[in-house]
Amino acid sequence: NTRALLEKQREIDSSAVAYPEDIPIAFDEGKGATVRDADGNTFIDMFAGIGVLNVGHANPYVLEAVHEQADKFVHSVDFPTEARLELIEKLDEIAPDGLAGENRVVFGGPTGSDAIEASIKLAKYNTGGTGLVAFRGGYHGPTSGAMSLTSNKSFKEHYTPLLPDVVHAPYPHPFRQDKSPADAVDHALEEVQAILEDPYGGLANPAGIVVEPIQGEGGIVTPPEGFLQGLRDIADDNDVPLVFDEIQSGLGRTGEWWAADWAGVTPDIMTSAKALGGIGFPLSATIYHEDLDTWGPGDHAGTYRGHVVGMRAGTRAIEYIQEHDLLAHARDLGEYIRRRLREAPTDRLGDVRGTGLFIGAEFVDEDGEPGGDFVDAVQQYCFEHGVLVWTAGRHGNVLRFLPPLVLTHDLAETALDVVLEAIEHADG
Ligand code: PMP
Repeated sequence: NTRALLEKQREIDSSAVAYPEDIPIAFDEGKGATVRDADGNTFIDMFAGIGVLNVGHANPYVLEAVHEQADKFVHSVDFPTEARLELIEKLDEIAPDGLAGENRVVFGGPTGSDAIEASIKLAKYNTGGTGLVAFRGGYHGPTSGAMSLTSNKSFKEHYTPLLPDVVHAPYPHPFRQDKSPADAVDHALEEVQAILEDPYGGLANPAGIVVEPIQGEGGIVTPPEGFLQGLRDIADDNDVPLVFDEIQSGLGRTGEWWAADWAGVTPDIMTSAKALGGIGFPLSATIYHEDLDTWGPGDHAGTYRGHVVGMRAGTRAIEYIQEHDLLAHARDLGEYIRRRLREAPTDRLGDVRGTGLFIGAEFVDEDGEPGGDFVDAVQQYCFEHGVLVWTAGRHGNVLRFLPPLVLTHDLAETALDVVLEAIEHADG
């Protein structure tokens, strides 16, 4: 069945679909932290649709509200609905200190990129500026503004010119930069300061600083202490908004609601998507301080201002995380997974890092250079042995774990047995 579906997909679907060619899997059903393929094989899901399914596939508590809402109506543009107001209030309840009780939410179109575009527009609208500071290794999505902020040239080389006024600063990555955490932070902050304050720095008229508080696609790079607070200070000194892209790191993934909470730093603008739609409904939001609420009606418009079923699902998912104390569970299970990874019997493991269930294991080759082929081999072995894992990093050399927060300790243990076996196997 799987092969027939794959063949048909190849025949009729776009050549742009990103599907690992060597690994035949077609999904048929998902439950919690497992998925079943079209031939009845069960997999442990350690990537959750790229960090979307935080409360698991087909979470019954969420599904109940989904069915109820879908029976009533699905699309309301900007007309008020209970579903919309309920989610705005829920987001306020869990917003980082400094935004909680003082924020506004604008729902965007279905994807994270929509929230990024809204953030860029909001920052420009409020400052009258044009320029943006972004970061090397950063990923913000496939639309033109989001691609401009993304640093990897391979995503954008065919589409230039994009936004003209974006300068990428270094993101502190002590392992790859071979620097102490403090030096990596100092270096990055000096560069940001130079971009904004030095006459030769590159941005004549800045509108904001856009950063992932933990880089996802870049390789689960957790910046050392002091970096985000340093950005906060620089943004304040230069009177520009600080924008946190929490599309991958947010909504409990790190064992706090937001990566911002770990740092104790409040952004002026924050993006959310992925897990916001509860169990995979497409929904994004830009959450911003009420002082920036200067748009007039229709200044940021769109047909899809939040999917009503997705909003219901989002609120329910947040409630589910609260009621089952899944933030604490994510912190504990994340510790366990990182500890197991560090025990991998190989000298190809360069670094294990992450927060909560936002975890990366970076591999190197014999010379200490990024080991992308090694990670491909590990991923393939895992897929063949019933564990779905993803990769990340500029060289594809980071094994990425973004399991549903409902993953049990038992399933994690089984998955890690397979992952460690895969690493041993790849090591020959
Ligand atoms: N920002 C971050 C941090 C992301 O991880 C992603 C998606 N991986 C995006 C933005 C773009 O989101 P989407 O693919 O939903 O447009």
